[in-house]
Amino acid sequence: MRLYVHVPYCVSKCAYCGFYSEAAVPSPDFAGNLLSELSLRIGVPESGIESVYIGGGTPSVLGPDAFLRAARGICDFFGAAPPEFSVEVNPADVTERLAAAFAEAGVTRVSLGAQSFLSSELSFLGRRHSPDETVSAVEKFRSAGIENVGLDLIAGVPGFGGEMFMLSVSRALSLSPAHLSVYVLSIEKGSKFGRMGIVPPPDDEVMDQMIAASSAAERAGLVRYEISNFARPGCECNYNVAVWRGEDYAGIGPSAFSRLGRLRRRNLPDVKSWSSACRRGLPPPCEEEIVSSVEDWRERRSTSVRLLREGFVPPENASPAVLRNLERSGLIRSRADAQDSASRAYVLTMRGAEVADAVAEELFF
Ligand code: SF4
Repeated sequence: MRLYVHVPYCVSKCAYCGFYSEAAVPSPDFAGNLLSELSLRIGVPESGIESVYIGGGTPSVLGPDAFLRAARGICDFFGAAPPEFSVEVNPADVTERLAAAFAEAGVTRVSLGAQSFLSSELSFLGRRHSPDETVSAVEKFRSAGIENVGLDLIAGVPGFGGEMFMLSVSRALSLSPAHLSVYVLSIEKGSKFGRMGIVPPPDDEVMDQMIAASSAAERAGLVRYEISNFARPGCECNYNVAVWRGEDYAGIGPSAFSRLGRLRRRNLPDVKSWSSACRRGLPPPCEEEIVSSVEDWRERRSTSVRLLREGFVPPENASPAVLRNLERSGLIRSRADAQDSASRAYVLTMRGAEVADAVAEELFF
């Protein structure tokens, strides 16, 4: 089983962000409430835990003690620490004590929200950390014994294109990360940027940035295994790969999403009602839906298009003409030469990776 844990707190709101999070200090009973939801939702675990992913929000704002309490409770619940235990971290929160608590809790990989190595860009984005704090956070986790340290960067920031973006990519690669994620800036409607009417750069410009980042990461020995993700062999995020492959996962915490068979469940994005239900031993308020088997199949299979190393199997009824057209346009290539071609037939090209949603739409919907 795979578990996602949502920590809904952030010290302040980034200018582009539309995710659910509260700009508040974490409640002291947050870890206890999480563990209460875990046993309510899952009951007696039928299998061991393969991976845990703690995201947010900002999980690192929990601090060492509450984090350790939550992490130990999750491992005790499943009877062992998961082979892969990932946590998202803001570089500004990292102290030697926090890094030591992560190591003690069995965390195997951390994803540092570096976003940029330019102070002016971090300030434009409303981030609260500095480039030096990112460098120092990498060192602290490595000293604590956590080797799989990843860095996240943002492409497509208005006013910080081309050479400025590549300065951040080079600086990130100079730290020899085990993993690198490069996300394209998405300006959410309810965000400060959305309200200010800030518009992203043209698609071509962003595509050029992604292609340049991809080439630089591959020259540095990282493999692009998913549209936005690069890793040294063996350092991929197995939790995310499983989700893109279409496997099940359970989510706990305010606004967390679960996919379990044909059930889709989203906890309401409201810390107050979530905490109050957990404290009383009740399932937190949520929206649930049983999707049709066709919808279930489409959702699970269409995300496999994102997997650039494994590739994807087109639907059995895919039109040969559509496949030929995508191949001739240079967006997908056949994996007929690969040993596992029987199960994984096509892979997106570098150009195809930049329009993956359109390719998935054409093939699966
Ligand atoms: S981008 Fe991340 S850190 Fe910033 S407000 Fe959103 S959830 Fe919090």
